[in-house]
Amino acid sequence: MLTHLSELIADAKHSGYALGAFNVDNLETTVGVVRAAVQKKSPLIIQISERTIKYGGLKTMTAMIETMVRDEAGNIPIALHLDHGRSFRSIAECIAAGFSSIMVDNSDVPFKENVILTRQSVEYAHKKDVWVQGELGVVKGLEEATPEDREKFMTDPDEAKQFVDETEVDTLAVAVGNVHGIVKLKKGLPQLNLERLEQIHKAIPEVPLVLHGASGLQTDQVKATFEHGIVIVNLNTELKLEYSNSLRDTLIGHPEYFDIRDILTPPTDALQRVVEEKLMLFGSANRI
Ligand SMILES: [Zn+2]
Repeated sequence: MLTHLSELIADAKHSGYALGAFNVDNLETTVGVVRAAVQKKSPLIIQISERTIKYGGLKTMTAMIETMVRDEAGNIPIALHLDHGRSFRSIAECIAAGFSSIMVDNSDVPFKENVILTRQSVEYAHKKDVWVQGELGVVKGLEEATPEDREKFMTDPDEAKQFVDETEVDTLAVAVGNVHGIVKLKKGLPQLNLERLEQIHKAIPEVPLVLHGASGLQTDQVKATFEHGIVIVNLNTELKLEYSNSLRDTLIGHPEYFDIRDILTPPTDALQRVVEEKLMLFGSANRI
């Protein structure tokens, strides 16, 4: 059941669990995520990025996700969200397409500009009853930042309070040592700064915080963030790795396969299993 993100957040906060926000790129990855939600009786967030919109088309992707959720998910609440919206155009188009939440990512511009640009999107979105996620601090890829840089890019608690007061965002993505992408999986895992996260949470206790770049983080680190305000955990890279590794294995292991359905079913099943594991870890399984 396609549901407004606010309802999912309300239950997650009330019952004390976190929500997974899973990136999908096509029909098969959507099948994997929706079936995991059904299998684990878990609410979750499906999100697409601007690159995926370019890849699959906004209307096509939205219609596909909506139809599948309606057809397969029954009463399991699933919210639709735009990940890393950078242009006002894609933000407005996703709002028109029926998303209940959009991310406005202006984290790469100075604080004041970030406030002004985010505020514009919030005013527009709130008129249409759509939630907005802002980002403060910068979640870099590991290849883009040294450990010292990452310290510098971390979210400042006082700025977080000011940012939320001035922009009125509904959720906030924070940088507390988390990094995007795949490189970290090869170079060793980053440690999260839980002390910094707690300071941010104390400064804005009502605002649900979002952890980006959670792929590959140790499970105890991820779980610990739930004590300090994290309500949404984004997963993208780990899903793509699982999917592409399984696809590669299937093609190498079964050179006789030529039917696309035989080739794509094992990776879809593998992705579903990873999502199910995450839903158990986040505590959102068996909530419906
Ligand atoms: Zn992200």
